[in-house]
Amino acid sequence: MKRDVGRRKNMRTWYKEITFSTSRQREVIDLTGEVVSAVRESGIKNGILVVQLPHATATLVMNENESGLKRDLIEQLDRIVPVRGDYEHDRIDDNAHAHMKSAFVGSSVALPVINGSIIRGTWQNFLVLEEDGPRTRRMVVFLLGE
Ligand code: ZN
Repeated sequence: MKRDVGRRKNMRTWYKEITFSTSRQREVIDLTGEVVSAVRESGIKNGILVVQLPHATATLVMNENESGLKRDLIEQLDRIVPVRGDYEHDRIDDNAHAHMKSAFVGSSVALPVINGSIIRGTWQNFLVLEEDGPRTRRMVVFLLGE
């Protein structure tokens, strides 16, 4: 499906920082409700949404909030980057695996917002993979649109 969503004359930007806490060293946290509320709060109906974790040891993925899958995500990432390894960074800081997971998978997403709704799949929730907790974390929600 393709459609013209119109020329935009009253573009503006909107920004919110959401603080959240993780309670374990490694866990998956669903922040979909917070992101959806932030978009509603912005009043922007059509535009681009950017969600970013300003952190080097956490990961943001869009996927299903299902308990088995959440364990699979954590455990299978360990097969790519095991928690223990011959990592240079562990000489100064004991979290090299968490940095690499964040670098390999990513920590931000950009999505369209159309008629007030974030365009995403039914099972695409905003999941944060904490790999080096517990910590206080931030999530940035930025919108450009009108
Ligand atoms: Zn580190």
